[in-house]
Amino acid sequence: MICKLANYADAERIDTLRGRLRKEGVESYLVKFDESHLLITENPSDRAATLLAESALVTHQFRLGTPYQLTSRRYHPADTTIAFADVLIGGEYVHVIAGPCAIESEPIARELATLMQKSGLVFFRGGLFKPRTSPYSFQGLGESGLSILRELKNMGMLLVTEALDDRCLRLLADIVDVIQIGSRNMHNFSLLRAVGELGKPVLLKRGMAATLEEFLMAAEYIVISGNRNVILCERGIRTVSDHTRNTLDLSAIPFLKRETHLPVIVDPSHGTGRRELVPAMSRAAVAAGADGVMIEIHPQPSIAWSDGDQSMFPADLPTLLLDIDRIAAAIGRKLWKKSSKN
Ligand code: PEP
Ligand code: MN
Repeated sequence: MICKLANYADAERIDTLRGRLRKEGVESYLVKFDESHLLITENPSDRAATLLAESALVTHQFRLGTPYQLTSRRYHPADTTIAFADVLIGGEYVHVIAGPCAIESEPIARELATLMQKSGLVFFRGGLFKPRTSPYSFQGLGESGLSILRELKNMGMLLVTEALDDRCLRLLADIVDVIQIGSRNMHNFSLLRAVGELGKPVLLKRGMAATLEEFLMAAEYIVISGNRNVILCERGIRTVSDHTRNTLDLSAIPFLKRETHLPVIVDPSHGTGRRELVPAMSRAAVAAGADGVMIEIHPQPSIAWSDGDQSMFPADLPTLLLDIDRIAAAIGRKLWKKSSKN
């Protein structure tokens, strides 16, 4: 339940109310959302509901009927847009975020960023800290690669990079524009809270075995921690199908767009694990209403240190962008390219 608090509600009175709720076993969160101060609880017991209803501090109550609340479109009907200076995610434009799975070296990163800039793309993805299934696989350049991220930033790219834990968050906080929380960490609630408190835009990937309700509840952890700039990313789930690495759940896009006001993007690279399927699934994602796609590219996928099989050849990027632009136009949207704004 979301309770809107009266303007005169001060810390002492709110603490008293929260203490009384705690005595009933009810956890509550105090959140500033838009201009309102909200006290948010799970749908409470009758006694707790009476406490809230009788409190003069509570001016409005919203029972949404779903466990996710602040992320729900029922509470906030308008789309959330996330601004990076003049670039918006979640508005009329569709974005293509591209880059290598892992940052391997400065020359490769520069080469890809230069190529992307020629195509008008601004969001560069690339991991320094890689969550690999095998501890023997390349784990990312780690801290020693931070200077490469700085170089890319100096080139004018907006950076999307994964944080695996609090230490990564501290190292990346001042450099990157979007912190990625990967599929394997979607259920890491302390990391979700920490990235919420950091306040930087977050790209939250769906857990590979998570329902959409669990996905939205993970986003809810970030939003109640004070950060509503969350981009949801469908990246495929585990199913019986084994012709692809994961099964890209395209129906998640229209479902999430109905249920939540947060932007939704799709990762067809991890979603399929197969480069040759990435263009078709990217087109399908945009047609289904995604606010963007995130794809892996590498100048020489056959020798990439991770995920080469799903990395596109740079030469195939222009055709993909053209196709995405045409599909976006068919549903009243547009591919965001730097030249289209400047
Ligand atoms: C990634 O995007 O680099 C990644 C590891 O993806 P996921 O968390 O979806 O596996
Ligand atoms: Mn990868």
